[in-house]
Amino acid sequence: MKVIIVGGVAGGASCAARLRRLDERAKIIMVERGPYVSYANCGLPYHVGGVIPQEASLLVADEATFRNQFAIDVRTRCEAVAIAPDKKTVDLKNLATGEVTTESYDKLVLSPGAPSVRPPLPGIDLPGIFQVRTVPDVRQIREWIEKGTAFLSGMHKYSGYQTQRPPTRAVVIGGGFIGLEMVENLVHRGFEVTLVEMLDQVLAPLDREHARLVEAHLKRHGVNLALSDGVAGFKQAANGSLVVDTKSGKTHPADLVILALGVRPDTTLAKQAGLAIGERGGIRVDEHMRTSHPDIFAVGDAVEVKDFVTGQWSLIALAGPANRQGRIAADVIAGRDSRYRGTQGTSIIGLFGAAAAWTGVSEKTLNRLGDTDYEKIYLYPNSHAGYYPGAKPIAMKVIFRKSDGRLLGAQALGEDNVDKRISALALAIQMGATIYDLEEAELCYAPQFGSAKDPVNFAGMIAGDVLRGDMPICHWDAVNGAFLLDVREPAELALESVPGAVHIPIGELRARLGELPRDREIHVICRSGQRAYYATRVLLQHGFKARNLSGGFLSRAILSADFAGASAPAAR
Ligand SMILES: Cc1cc2nc3c(=O)[nH]c(=O)nc-3n(C[C@H](O)[C@H](O)[C@H](O)COP(=O)(O)OP(=O)(O)OC[C@H]3O[C@@H](n4cnc5c(N)ncnc54)[C@H](O)[C@@H]3O)c2cc1C
Repeated sequence: MKVIIVGGVAGGASCAARLRRLDERAKIIMVERGPYVSYANCGLPYHVGGVIPQEASLLVADEATFRNQFAIDVRTRCEAVAIAPDKKTVDLKNLATGEVTTESYDKLVLSPGAPSVRPPLPGIDLPGIFQVRTVPDVRQIREWIEKGTAFLSGMHKYSGYQTQRPPTRAVVIGGGFIGLEMVENLVHRGFEVTLVEMLDQVLAPLDREHARLVEAHLKRHGVNLALSDGVAGFKQAANGSLVVDTKSGKTHPADLVILALGVRPDTTLAKQAGLAIGERGGIRVDEHMRTSHPDIFAVGDAVEVKDFVTGQWSLIALAGPANRQGRIAADVIAGRDSRYRGTQGTSIIGLFGAAAAWTGVSEKTLNRLGDTDYEKIYLYPNSHAGYYPGAKPIAMKVIFRKSDGRLLGAQALGEDNVDKRISALALAIQMGATIYDLEEAELCYAPQFGSAKDPVNFAGMIAGDVLRGDMPICHWDAVNGAFLLDVREPAELALESVPGAVHIPIGELRARLGELPRDREIHVICRSGQRAYYATRVLLQHGFKARNLSGGFLSRAILSADFAGASAPAAR
């Protein structure tokens, strides 16, 4: 069997290596347009920032490894330019010589990825404007940054005039994860960074309130945010530096501009071959990663996937799915019945010592789909036992089905061990777990790693209490007209309070029940929702109608539209 794989990075390389492990006799050709195969594009921003100092570290496996270990015929600087599905041939262009040869195949795998969006804006080709997709891209960025930083550089010979200054101001366009990773790395390199984003929030998959936390964190680290403003064009100033014009009429001076406007599936070859393209613009495949042509497979960022939670077709460009899909395509080509389960968008981004992570569906997606069968909780547990040094709060939002408790999505932000909580919840979603399963999950515990009730258990217990009716909850957007009861200590009132709320500290509640109405619903508030939970239980057992305001004042802070630059939430 002869298999040709187009694209030699995440999906393509994973497919090639897996296929060899399954079929010693297959003739495998992997063609890659660029100079490298199997490089770590996820590491590119960190090479710009100097965290990964050596470019060579980004090259996970080179051509020689694929040839020697896997007996794969790797051809770099080789572009697949046309497919003839009826003849089962691909035209391959040697980019060094320009020569085009025709190669036959039994099975063809497309993993061409998704190039960065590059709109035809005025001035977009000016020097100093870069994208971040390949090793050569980041080499150019590093060279640009280093231009003028070496001792005596920019000094015109003999004259003593300084003719060049090192770049110091960067504008990053696009607040997705590549844009934000570039923001962080450029700040590390000493740049004053402005982030321009067309949406009214960074990290579009996050619900707005969690994005607000990320934005506050960015501001605390000196990043200038220009949200709700699209880029209109670029100009070169008289001194050679750049100016970024935005649609609102603002101008941002820059010595370096990073374009991170998102990616678009590369469907050029697929369209030319007449393969079906889906409604979202990606290559349409079935659960075996097979395209509309039985002998052509497609994987990675170029394909549309079924969203694991909503069942909708979507475009989700992530390395894990690309690798798994490559492996599945190889399995199927080798005669196995492997199937892709769908993508739930599990992601994480590290930013200035903190991490934001998410999995599954967001509340805004459910709202967009008109799905009302869900409830959400906000919680702020410690990353590990509070008495053990170094515990940090994690801001979590967990979304679940009201009707059956099935876990639908989760978002978290914090400085410690955010990843393991979202990874656990991601696996739970994929296994179809309910919030009752989270209550029972047996997870690692010693005080430096977690709590006897891990945040994952804790989320399950809170959600379980909600669905069992032990703790009715409400949210800040629905408190109008309710009787508000604040159960915090008097000293806390000086810091923040809600106008009109009646204050009875939790310790005095049982003695002062007579002050509370029996004919109105009481919404109970504390800092994080924990003391309000205790108070709600007291009230319910004394015959009051009570609800816990989920997440308390911490949620109020992140839900309020004017939240900006506030300090990180602290758990209680
Ligand atoms: C800067 C950056 C950071 C990222 N960070 C993360 C992260 O932290 N976590 C995460 O999950 N994902 C991350 N990603 C996304 C992840 O890298 C991609 O989802 C993944 O690489 C997709 O794999 P792929 O095989 O579909 O495409 P790619 O890995 O992009 O590979 C496609 C290859 O196909 C080649 N090609 C295209 N057309 C042809 C042709 N006609 N002939 C020959 N070759 C062709 C291209 O040159 C390219 O090298 C990041 C991406 C970037 C750019």
